[in-house]
Amino acid sequence: MGRIQTINPATEEVIQEYETMPKVQVLGIAQQCHDAFQVWKNYSVKERAARISNLGSVLLKNKKKYAALITKEMGKAISESIAEVEKCAMLCSVYAKQGKQWLAEEVVEASGKKHRVVFEPLGVIFSVMPWNFPFWQALRFAVPALLAGNTSILKHASITTGCALEIEQAFIEAGFPENTFRTVLADHATVAGLIASPLIQGVSLTGSTEAGSRIAEQAGKHLKKVVLELGGSDPFIVLEDADVDAAAKGAVTGRTLNCGQSCIAAKRFIVVKHVAEQFSAKFASLMSSIVIGDPMKEETKIGPLVNADAVNTMEAFVEDAVQKGGKILCGGKRKKGRGCFFEPTVITNTSPQMKIVREEVFGPIAPVIIVKGEKEAISIANHSEFGLGGSVWTKDLKRGERVARQLEAGSVFVNSVVRSDPRMPFGGVKKSGIGRELSVYGLREFVNVKGLNVFGWKSERLLSKPL
Ligand code: NAP
Repeated sequence: MGRIQTINPATEEVIQEYETMPKVQVLGIAQQCHDAFQVWKNYSVKERAARISNLGSVLLKNKKKYAALITKEMGKAISESIAEVEKCAMLCSVYAKQGKQWLAEEVVEASGKKHRVVFEPLGVIFSVMPWNFPFWQALRFAVPALLAGNTSILKHASITTGCALEIEQAFIEAGFPENTFRTVLADHATVAGLIASPLIQGVSLTGSTEAGSRIAEQAGKHLKKVVLELGGSDPFIVLEDADVDAAAKGAVTGRTLNCGQSCIAAKRFIVVKHVAEQFSAKFASLMSSIVIGDPMKEETKIGPLVNADAVNTMEAFVEDAVQKGGKILCGGKRKKGRGCFFEPTVITNTSPQMKIVREEVFGPIAPVIIVKGEKEAISIANHSEFGLGGSVWTKDLKRGERVARQLEAGSVFVNSVVRSDPRMPFGGVKKSGIGRELSVYGLREFVNVKGLNVFGWKSERLLSKPL
């Protein structure tokens, strides 16, 4: 058994210590979830939706408590933590309302008397989740999975173990039958053991591309269905006809939400030469005026990064860029004193060799890449191993749509930062992931899409040859 220690990144004080569960205990929980599945799968969608709706109410009732815990464990500004919990409640209300329609049988006209496409649950689905949106990521997966009739086990990032335990309690408080949703505190070896267990029917991971590849390998070995929501390096394209002020404001939001630690954060700012100077100056001026500090205070816009390692990583990114000729327009340094704070940073004079251009930067550093025009912007945007999101800024909406359609990404936005919405599919292409979450597409990831075919009983029919 190992130990998990949670640390407040704003104060660097230990919050709590936990022991990971031995493998035998985790497999016991899987058995309980498997047994619960035999009952839960027979609940009607209406009955399941009623619990999902209750879960939304529980989240809203406890939102201040949950938000404080999120902020304490991973450091995001309290206003963002509140917004995260509220968004989870919205997710519950969308699925509670749409579930019946999205899981309704489909009628197909074929050669028999009756043909239906039926969506049946698979069993116990295992989720491995990250710390950056500890409530949102876990629930974005669990709510549709349970609504479809599956039961689920969560192994959360160790950084947000307290959140993982609160989420489990929230399901209980919402009246879900025992063992429909469980949290396990497990190390990576136990995760592998659980994926291998015949009690598990599918795996969903949100996290880094590296973890996704490992988990997919283990799931592939045991022929388990996987959904992977991985890293991104979203392009943020500013064309010469953009409203530069709006684009600069959008750039700040896109780069600094969650202190820059979001998979769909704008991470590469690709700006047409004509407006590059104006955009960069405005962007840097807004970035340097952001209030950084105690994330528990309402007025704070940016809290600390998740831990000391993340600060060291940001420093190394800046050092690499400067060594290769990058010019810092603002920020570039850690904040002195206690806590894992790093200044919002804008870097120009960038080149493709720099790590801030090539890799996923999980923090508030923004590289500005200057291009001649639309064609080069699209080409650079697509020159990435990632394909999660992207946004395009222009006053010509038709042009914006045309550019958006050419971006290799799971979600594209014109004149808006990339954001997730329960009514729209979410996911990535290339190394950003496999499969989708949210909307009807997410709901149908962990189901058996069953073809039900009924023919008449007369014996002469049996003489005709099936194809
Ligand atoms: P991470 O290090 O990959 O961890 C994610 C989860 O996977 C954690 O629960 C972690 O557990 C577990 N894990 C990692 N390696 C594992 C292994 N070999 N075996 C079993 N479990 C393993 O990612 P993170 O630092 O928490 O999150 C940041 C990354 O997630 C970024 O790349 C970000 O872009 C991505 N992300 C993607 C989305 C999306 O929707 N596409 C959303 C949010 C975040 P431990 O904590 O115990 O190591």
